[in-house]
Amino acid sequence: MESATEPCSVKVAVHVRPLISEEKLQGCKDCVTVVTGKPQVQIGARSFTFDHVYGSTASPSSAMFEECVASLVDGLFQGYNATVLAYGQTGSGKTYTMGTGIKDGCQTGIVPQVMSALFNKIETLKHQIEFQLHVSFIEILKEEVRDLLDSSTSKLENANGHAGKVNVPGKPPIQIRETSNGVITLAGSTEVSVTTLKEMAACLEQGSLSRATGSTNMNNQSSRSHAIFTITLEQMRKLRSENGDSMNEDYLCAKLHLVDLAGSERAKRTGSDGLRFKEGVHINKGLLALGNVISALGDEKKRKEGVHVPYRDSKLTRLLQDSLGGNSRTVMIACISPADINAEETLNTLKYANRAR
Ligand code: ADP
Ligand code: MG
Repeated sequence: MESATEPCSVKVAVHVRPLISEEKLQGCKDCVTVVTGKPQVQIGARSFTFDHVYGSTASPSSAMFEECVASLVDGLFQGYNATVLAYGQTGSGKTYTMGTGIKDGCQTGIVPQVMSALFNKIETLKHQIEFQLHVSFIEILKEEVRDLLDSSTSKLENANGHAGKVNVPGKPPIQIRETSNGVITLAGSTEVSVTTLKEMAACLEQGSLSRATGSTNMNNQSSRSHAIFTITLEQMRKLRSENGDSMNEDYLCAKLHLVDLAGSERAKRTGSDGLRFKEGVHINKGLLALGNVISALGDEKKRKEGVHVPYRDSKLTRLLQDSLGGNSRTVMIACISPADINAEETLNTLKYANRAR
């Protein structure tokens, strides 16, 4: 019922981080204003309104979770797929916001809060329903999928900053496939079955450690890959028939993708050598396709005209296809730095996020 009438909504939130010490040392000024009492940000003469805006003064993490993500976790129990995307330039706070970093891997990020909400809810329902949980953690770099939970993929690649060789020899590459009923699967990726919060947190940590990083001119920890942590929830609800003895099973399966996107800065700002430039181009391909998909989904007129949604234009959108649009729920958190030196990229991020609405 809901799906037929409710417009396919992509919620967009903006998270403005505080000036970090590096920026203060450089003498950066704060050039972003969060309008009090409104979900609005101003930069220069431009102002943008979103579903939610979280400024840097308060500690916004639990409000952000409650307002933007908690309903997606609840939706999983009703069988709705969902996606949370953190978008923004390198250093804008995507990993911090998601809570998928190794040093900021504190309890305040989105992913740790998702995990505890999920297990809390399972705890209250486990007497009526049998649950199965799986997680996968992959990254997409240069349009190739890399398994972050496969301990056999070489750690050496990470150490020297090259993840060019995606798989160990002899191992088939991970492939994105679509089943006849439209379910997207990742053939060849590690799916870890977890039963406790601790086990799930261990997967998050293992994958975060394994995530490839390469240095660029902008930031040593710059991340040019999309990291996707996926939680799959299967439910078997026991249904007792009228006479009380025979049992029916009601099966539901839904997944939640938690995505720490690649830095949105343009290749020209990061690039020095040809290799980096190539990576930049590929990253832009995913972000470009994502922008096009989300904007096609959000445009009701276009949807009525049956305009094609270009999921197939990148690995990222292909992988997220069954969890973006349709019955699924999507939240994009645009992360921005308040520093004046980042004003141009911040404006780009706000424009991109604005297009998603
Ligand atoms: P990204 O993943 O977008 O490259 P990070 O999450 O790594 O950015 O953040 C860059 C730096 O800013 C890190 O040192 C991080 O600790 C800091 N930071 C990010 N967001 C916040 C925040 N909301 N409050 C305090 N520090 C933050
Ligand atoms: Mg990051």
